[in-house]
Amino acid sequence: QAPMLNEKDPAAQAQGYVADAKKVDAKKWPKYAAGQVCSNCALYQGKPADKAAACPLFAGKQVAGAGWCNAWVKKA
Ligand code: SF4
Repeated sequence: QAPMLNEKDPAAQAQGYVADAKKVDAKKWPKYAAGQVCSNCALYQGKPADKAAACPLFAGKQVAGAGWCNAWVKKA
Protein backbone atom coordinates (compact mmCIF):
# COMPACT_ATOMS: atom_id res chain seq x y z
CA GLN A 1 0.00 0.00 0.00
CA ALA A 2 1.29 3.42 -0.92
CA PRO A 3 1.91 5.88 1.92
CA MET A 4 -0.61 8.59 2.69
CA LEU A 5 -0.08 11.96 1.07
CA ASN A 6 1.15 14.46 3.65
CA GLU A 7 -0.62 17.83 3.64
CA LYS A 8 2.76 19.48 4.01
CA ASP A 9 4.13 17.86 0.86
CA PRO A 10 4.81 20.73 -1.61
CA ALA A 11 2.69 19.02 -4.28
CA ALA A 12 -0.19 18.75 -1.80
CA GLN A 13 0.14 22.36 -0.73
CA ALA A 14 0.18 23.54 -4.35
CA GLN A 15 -3.28 21.99 -4.79
CA GLY A 16 -4.60 22.91 -1.37
CA TYR A 17 -4.92 19.25 -0.35
CA VAL A 18 -6.17 18.56 3.15
CA ALA A 19 -6.93 15.15 4.65
CA ASP A 20 -10.15 16.52 6.18
CA ALA A 21 -12.27 18.49 3.72
CA LYS A 22 -13.89 20.31 6.65
CA LYS A 23 -10.58 22.08 7.15
CA VAL A 24 -10.34 23.63 3.69
CA ASP A 25 -9.52 27.33 3.86
CA ALA A 26 -12.43 28.47 1.68
CA LYS A 27 -11.02 31.99 1.37
CA LYS A 28 -7.84 30.63 -0.13
CA TRP A 29 -9.63 27.95 -2.16
CA PRO A 30 -12.93 29.49 -3.33
CA LYS A 31 -13.74 26.55 -5.64
CA TYR A 32 -14.45 24.44 -2.56
CA ALA A 33 -18.08 23.70 -1.80
CA ALA A 34 -19.41 21.74 1.15
CA GLY A 35 -19.92 18.09 0.34
CA GLN A 36 -16.91 17.80 -1.95
CA VAL A 37 -14.53 15.07 -0.79
CA CYS A 38 -11.93 12.88 -2.45
CA SER A 39 -14.21 9.86 -2.25
CA ASN A 40 -16.77 11.56 -4.51
CA CYS A 41 -14.19 13.05 -6.88
CA ALA A 42 -13.88 11.65 -10.40
CA LEU A 43 -10.14 11.16 -9.92
CA TYR A 44 -10.44 9.02 -6.78
CA GLN A 45 -9.19 5.52 -7.61
CA GLY A 46 -11.03 3.72 -4.82
CA LYS A 47 -14.62 2.86 -4.10
CA PRO A 48 -16.63 5.64 -2.44
CA ALA A 49 -16.51 3.75 0.87
CA ASP A 50 -12.72 3.34 0.85
CA LYS A 51 -11.01 5.39 3.56
CA ALA A 52 -8.04 6.07 1.28
CA ALA A 53 -7.10 5.47 -2.33
CA ALA A 54 -4.71 6.52 -5.04
CA CYS A 55 -5.19 9.75 -6.98
CA PRO A 56 -3.42 10.29 -10.31
CA LEU A 57 -2.54 13.81 -9.24
CA PHE A 58 -0.30 12.51 -6.47
CA ALA A 59 1.61 9.54 -7.88
CA GLY A 60 2.84 7.00 -5.37
CA LYS A 61 0.65 8.31 -2.56
CA GLN A 62 -2.84 7.69 -1.25
CA VAL A 63 -5.29 10.44 -0.46
CA ALA A 64 -7.91 10.33 2.28
CA GLY A 65 -11.48 9.63 1.23
CA ALA A 66 -12.50 12.51 3.49
CA GLY A 67 -9.88 14.80 1.97
CA TRP A 68 -10.09 17.45 -0.72
CA CYS A 69 -7.95 19.38 -3.16
CA ASN A 70 -8.49 22.17 -5.65
CA ALA A 71 -8.56 19.73 -8.58
CA TRP A 72 -11.77 18.12 -7.31
CA VAL A 73 -14.04 17.11 -10.21
CA LYS A 74 -17.60 15.88 -9.88
CA LYS A 75 -17.94 12.19 -10.59
CA ALA A 76 -19.95 11.72 -13.79
FE1 SF4 B 1 -8.88 14.20 -3.86
FE2 SF4 B 1 -9.83 14.52 -6.30
FE3 SF4 B 1 -7.94 16.15 -5.37
FE4 SF4 B 1 -7.37 13.65 -5.98
S1 SF4 B 1 -8.04 15.24 -7.41
S2 SF4 B 1 -6.73 14.74 -4.12
S3 SF4 B 1 -9.23 12.57 -5.36
S4 SF4 B 1 -10.04 15.96 -4.59
